[in-house]
Amino acid sequence: MTLERATIATRSSEEQASSSTSEQSSTARFVCDYCGQCCTGRPGGSGLLLWTRGNEVRYDEPPLCQECANRITVGALLRWSWEQDGES
Ligand SMILES: [Zn+2]
Repeated sequence: MTLERATIATRSSEEQASSSTSEQSSTARFVCDYCGQCCTGRPGGSGLLLWTRGNEVRYDEPPLCQECANRITVGALLRWSWEQDGES
């Protein structure tokens, strides 16, 4: 079980590295995963999604435009501070 998990993690990180380099050289267009706008240039940021389906673990990094990247980052920080305030 431990060996299986290690193999999956190595394979997925290799796929990410190869796909990101090919995307950069071929096209500079992307659709924001949050607002759905078609943008040109490089994504302002990307969210990291972790999927678990049974024993399979998958990583996804949807591209975000600069506006949405900022909004999500600020939202996450605000929610984190709210949770911190609520606990103390
Ligand atoms: Zn957006």
